[in-house]
Amino acid sequence: MLLETPVWQKFLHDFLQDFTAETTRYFLFAGITFLAFYVLGKKIFARFKIQQKFPATKHIWRELRYSLLSLVIFALNGVFVFTCYRHGYTKLYLNIHAHSWAYFAFSVLVFIVAHDFYFYWTHRFMHWKKIYPYVHKIHHLSHDPTPWAAYAFHPFEAVIQAAIFPIMVFILPVHPLAILIWGLYQAGLNVMGHSGFELFPSGFTSGTITKWHNSSTHHNMHHKYATSNYGLYFNFWDRIMGTNHPKYTETFEQVKEQAKNLRKEETTKPERVYQA
Ligand SMILES: [Zn+2]
Ligand SMILES: [Zn+2]
Repeated sequence: MLLETPVWQKFLHDFLQDFTAETTRYFLFAGITFLAFYVLGKKIFARFKIQQKFPATKHIWRELRYSLLSLVIFALNGVFVFTCYRHGYTKLYLNIHAHSWAYFAFSVLVFIVAHDFYFYWTHRFMHWKKIYPYVHKIHHLSHDPTPWAAYAFHPFEAVIQAAIFPIMVFILPVHPLAILIWGLYQAGLNVMGHSGFELFPSGFTSGTITKWHNSSTHHNMHHKYATSNYGLYFNFWDRIMGTNHPKYTETFEQVKEQAKNLRKEETTKPERVYQA
């Protein structure tokens, strides 16, 4: 007679598997960005910094600590979804041919659009002054975030953020590969929004199509002012609800202008040094 795997062993296996995946993704995205912009390429990229000062090391450690705590919560959320899947409660499908490729692409899109809606409204809810000091304030301790702030949340906020995953897999038939694509876009956008650097070209926030996508400056301004720019992927809900910072486009262009001027300064520097 085959012995069934004890529940705690299944839990531990699922937890470690999910925690490893989540942590690897976080360290890859945030780590590479941090290494490129704050360590190895600090001088090269300095002109693209949105706020010219660099945050103190103690802030970076705090961002890292809270993000790791969030990753534990995300992994527990993953265990919950795995368990529900095993009991047949989710709409996850493993055979990619169970639905067409057109449906697959559609499911990725629906996941992202639904998450964008969910993020905007839960984010605005967490800015409600009656609950802001108890939950979301932790994320706003970073006035000039670094890539490590991507998941620097109060544990309760981490639960709210994570909840989109089970909600979606209970409603939408979705393949794990679609979840992976969504997860990579989500992590990439989160790290970009907290990077502190703006690499999108001048005109991005006013282009007919590009203006609908958020930029790093957009979320950086959210951390600086905390009263506008609540969206995640798209500049849709902020536009519809009139919550974009009034100087969003102006600030974006100033950041681009500043990069151009610093570049000019850099190229003329050797001459000035020589003359001196
Ligand atoms: Zn943030
Ligand atoms: Zn906020």
